[in-house]
Amino acid sequence: MSAVNTFDNLINSLNSDFFDHFNSKDIDIFSNCQPTPLENPRLIHVNKRFCIELGLKHNIFETERAKDLMSGNLAGLSLKPISVVYSGHQFGTWAGQLGDGRAITLGELATKDQTTQIESLWDIQLKGAGLTPYSRFADGRAVLRSSIREYLCSEAMHGLGIPTTRALCLVTSDTKVQRESIESGAILCRVAKNHIRFGSLEHFYYSEQPDALIALIDYSINRHFPEWNNLKDKYERFFTNTILKTASLIAKWQSVGFCHGVLNTDNMCILGNTLDYGPFGFLDRYDPMWICNTSDYNGRYSFHNQPSVGLWNLNALATCFSKLIKKEKIISKLRLYEPALVKEYRALMNQKLGLSDDSTDYKFQDELLKIMQRDKVDYTFFFRQLSYTRSLTDEILKLFSSIDDIKEWFENYELKVKSSKVHQRSMLEVNPKFTLRNHLAQKAIKKAEEGDFQELKVLEKIIQAPYEEHKEYHQYSLPLPTDLQSQRLSCSS
Ligand code: AMP
Ligand code: MG
Repeated sequence: MSAVNTFDNLINSLNSDFFDHFNSKDIDIFSNCQPTPLENPRLIHVNKRFCIELGLKHNIFETERAKDLMSGNLAGLSLKPISVVYSGHQFGTWAGQLGDGRAITLGELATKDQTTQIESLWDIQLKGAGLTPYSRFADGRAVLRSSIREYLCSEAMHGLGIPTTRALCLVTSDTKVQRESIESGAILCRVAKNHIRFGSLEHFYYSEQPDALIALIDYSINRHFPEWNNLKDKYERFFTNTILKTASLIAKWQSVGFCHGVLNTDNMCILGNTLDYGPFGFLDRYDPMWICNTSDYNGRYSFHNQPSVGLWNLNALATCFSKLIKKEKIISKLRLYEPALVKEYRALMNQKLGLSDDSTDYKFQDELLKIMQRDKVDYTFFFRQLSYTRSLTDEILKLFSSIDDIKEWFENYELKVKSSKVHQRSMLEVNPKFTLRNHLAQKAIKKAEEGDFQELKVLEKIIQAPYEEHKEYHQYSLPLPTDLQSQRLSCSS
């Protein structure tokens, strides 16, 4: 694997592993699909940190040809772009065939982790690249607003240490896209270890294509866990891995206050990565009932429902394994989910509080959250403040209105931290100073829509390293002003 330091080198480095594999098996999982180039494209942002991780020199994107590629103009390039089919359950109901309605994968880039020496393939995908055979009634486009939100949130997740798809660069254009109003068409270059969804497996199960279903699972095993290829229980291992990775992912979301917003099975990745950022939100004031998606009328995907929705989705996935794993085994594996999630969540909350791993006074954790909910206390800000002193400072006290309750809680807390072996400094490494607060993202979007990308750069900087102080950007860590409500978002993107 040589360093990718020119544009031609990047093009030559792109594999077509997925294409070649399923093409040779004659399995109908993708369609060849050319992007429709954006009009007058401008490459407005490149993720320099991620370029380094991928072994790419970021200045290879400072060329006309790179801009052409990232805006969907593949003229003269020998790539095999594809869109992939999947199905899924949306809001608890079988939705039938969906698929990459606006995403086109250009190929895969191979990297080698310098420390572990593990090789990975990364899908390089253009989201918003025009109509595909799976666009159904929609236009195949993405607007600048939603592309910036996905860019920032996937980087925020990564900065928090939570598994996620990544974002490489953003292109805006003069292409007009109709949503509630006319907006600029944009393309986000999304990069992921894979884009295989629970719904990808459901697609072949429900369309009664058992050979294709097995081929897709085998492909996934070979790509991600080649050491299991020849094991008799490889399907069981694979399914169990998805269960445990999903439990871990959702425990992490709950601990940082992230609400995904649309946890349909087509938005769940079989590797347990956060996938498809739409109307997501980080909690400002702590409210477990928070529903960040205005189209989610019954709160199916509210913040506190996420753990149980994860299990619902895994049950839907389990059906796909019904011919490959014995029923009792499937049930016993599904039973691993809840204890795994609870264990990790409790441990993460202990870390946030600076308490030892063996602290099992979970009522104590819940008591704090109850007071925070009642007093509408800012989740991220509170835990960061706690990390500085581990005591009830004036700064913390003024966040609360239930003064007696929080004083009593702190009396107990101060006793507990005295006997805890956890160093206070380590709390600063688990309690971020910054999350992608929606009102900050909105501000960056508004500026970007006016052609000013400075705010986008600032947000990127703080969310990519959210545990650092960034003193000059202290105001970005402050709670939402009391006269503002956390903004909910629609699916429009
Ligand atoms: P989502 O709610 O973003 O997960 O999307 C659900 C399905 O609708 C997926 O199959 C998407 O590819 C498709 N989709 C969403 N927006 C568009 C669009 N503007 N054009 C084509 N397909 C879309
Ligand atoms: Mg989706």
